[in-house]
Amino acid sequence: MAKVVGLGPSGSAFLLRHGRGFGVDFSRRYVKACGEAVPVETPMVEARYVVDKVRTFRFFLWDREVGEASYTKPRWYIVDKERWVESMRAGAPSAGGPYDVLVKAGGPYQSMGEKITVVRFYVEGARRPANEAVDFVFSRDAVGFYWVFPHGGVLNVGGGFLGVDNPVPHVKKFVEKWLGGGRVVDVRGAPLTVMPRVVLHDGEGFRIGEAAGLVYPLTGEGIRPGVLSAIALAEALSTKKPLEEYRRRVAPIVKQVEFQKKLLSLAVRMSERGGALLELADDGVLRDYIEENLSARTLLALLAKKPAAAARLIAALLR
Ligand SMILES: Cc1cc2nc3c(=O)[nH]c(=O)nc-3n(C[C@H](O)[C@H](O)[C@H](O)COP(=O)(O)OP(=O)(O)OC[C@H]3O[C@@H](n4cnc5c(N)ncnc54)[C@H](O)[C@@H]3O)c2cc1C
Repeated sequence: MAKVVGLGPSGSAFLLRHGRGFGVDFSRRYVKACGEAVPVETPMVEARYVVDKVRTFRFFLWDREVGEASYTKPRWYIVDKERWVESMRAGAPSAGGPYDVLVKAGGPYQSMGEKITVVRFYVEGARRPANEAVDFVFSRDAVGFYWVFPHGGVLNVGGGFLGVDNPVPHVKKFVEKWLGGGRVVDVRGAPLTVMPRVVLHDGEGFRIGEAAGLVYPLTGEGIRPGVLSAIALAEALSTKKPLEEYRRRVAPIVKQVEFQKKLLSLAVRMSERGGALLELADDGVLRDYIEENLSARTLLALLAKKPAAAARLIAALLR
């Protein structure tokens, strides 16, 4: 029997898959701020919670478009995360009692490592990105980005930046200046772990999802790694060496987290010198970014196409 602390996507997915346990959460409803974007292959996302599909990703350095990644088929779903998580919570076992496995799934409230506050606005009546497209807008003033995602008729617009405690005024200004206005109908913020320390077991219990540090520092993507880690642990618990098996199964996620941590540190160093990491990227890099597939191979491919840019990137990484 397992006790799960925290019933976001990770905790509720774990309970559903494990089937033997119960969960506690200090919020009666799941209402956390989010961009609500997941790659289409994210397990346990049912079609009825998908409110938009995304095929095109555009990247801007404020008003200058610097790249685009486009796919023939949808690459992301935008989901109604609250309804999706609530449905998983409702389907999960709920009776309490004695337990022999503790699982911490409290997201950024339990994670270790540097956190920032990220906010999202729902905006009505604003200029939308092109059909099935999302926009990422990087500013030169701080490391972080704004996003503009469709969300079932409204826009989900948000942002988060290193060193900015309250991004609300920044996102407000972004809506006015970049989007050209719109009616803000809801504002919500939450912490996000940007420099996570990955801890899969802390001596007291297992950790999954963002509580384990399984969130990607450059993109802020935490839903898919959370659900994948929940499934990995649920399955590992029925093996002879659960921790070893769990560690083995989430190794690719951990590798990507660690690589993105290095790139984020690099972005900070470049920003201190007035530069932007995005300027060194090309469409191939942006694709790997979207596919959470950034690796040394990405940089080698860049080296072949843009030797000067890649050499600067690799030199900065090694410094
Ligand atoms: C503004 C914003 C936008 C984001 N956009 C995206 C996005 O578009 N796509 C994406 O993949 N990720 C995004 N993320 C990250 C993503 O929201 C999280 O990484 C993801 O939800 C992690 O899931 P989780 O289940 O591990 O934790 P959470 O979703 O944080 O759930 C944790 C749950 O635990 C509960 N809890 C915490 N501590 C305790 C405790 N001590 N006792 C009881 N209950 C507790 C909380 O109430 C909560 O319900 C975004 C984050 C923010 C803040």
